[in-house]
Amino acid sequence: MIITLEENIDAGARGAINDFLSSRGFSATAVKTQGGSYVVCIGGREVDLREVHQLAGVADVHRVTDVFKLVSRKWRVRRLRIDLGDGVVVGEGSHTIMAGPCSIEGEQQVRETVEFLSSQGIKVMRGGVFKPRSSPYSFRGLGLEGLQMFSEIARSKGMKVVTEVLDASQIGSMMQYVDIFQVGARNSQNFSLLDELGGVDKPVLLKRGLSGTLEELLQSAEYIYSRGNEKIILCERGIRTYERSYRNTLDLNAVPYLKEKSHLPVVVDPSHGVGIRRFVPAMAMAGLVAGSDGTLLEVHRCPEEALSDGAQTLNFDEASELFRQLGELGKLGLLGS
Ligand code: PEP
Ligand code: MN
Repeated sequence: MIITLEENIDAGARGAINDFLSSRGFSATAVKTQGGSYVVCIGGREVDLREVHQLAGVADVHRVTDVFKLVSRKWRVRRLRIDLGDGVVVGEGSHTIMAGPCSIEGEQQVRETVEFLSSQGIKVMRGGVFKPRSSPYSFRGLGLEGLQMFSEIARSKGMKVVTEVLDASQIGSMMQYVDIFQVGARNSQNFSLLDELGGVDKPVLLKRGLSGTLEELLQSAEYIYSRGNEKIILCERGIRTYERSYRNTLDLNAVPYLKEKSHLPVVVDPSHGVGIRRFVPAMAMAGLVAGSDGTLLEVHRCPEEALSDGAQTLNFDEASELFRQLGELGKLGLLGS
């Protein structure tokens, strides 16, 4: 059960609500987000919701039978729209492309990518500076200095910045340079990282774990939400199955499923999802048709020279053609279903 509190509820009314809940055997967690104040109630005996509604300070109450609560659509039917400012929105009714290299490699690469993306009308650029690599000997990113450079160049052209945070200790120093914090697949259940991101007023792009179920993904989102940050974007990026013909198996079933279960926006990452460049456009388009709110794409001027994930990265010509095709599909009115 989720109780939405009135905005200016006083301490006395809060106390009375808590007393009522404990008398019925509920364990109650108070949550304050950018959007409001709530009490998440777990366990407890059967209650008549009208009884709860009558309590002073209660604005609304919903029964939520899912294991995840605040991210459930049983409680909030209207889908979340995340406003990044300057007309950039992620969520219901729009399809947002976030594109850029797997790794930020240097100033020239950032400049040419920003210029290319701007010319294509793309407003969100991705690029990792802290790279989670399977081998410690692989390129691990340019770090905070790289992020400062990336952010300065991208923002000077009105581009929003999405980049991965690997560890909770990095959040503070990254904060001013980032518009969306990405949580990678390997960190999808790093609960201390998720807790910390719950205390931040910036959107979080949360990737599904390599072998994570959708329920686990939604519970990870619940960690962030219940610590106070509602601005969460779910990302299907492929899972590990017995199929070895491609890097991962992009589970597009996840898109309608997540959109039915949760009010959070859902984006698809076909680059990691299939891992083979020539298959990326087909899977990107399939992701849009499945109802996704956006696409995360790896793009590089010369993928053959990329320091990470070149095999799944589109060059500018391929990306440009795909952007055009996604635009055409968008016009068919498939969005926001
Ligand atoms: C990435 O986006 O470059 C990345 C490392 O993704 P994932 O965490 O999905 O592997
Ligand atoms: Mn990558």
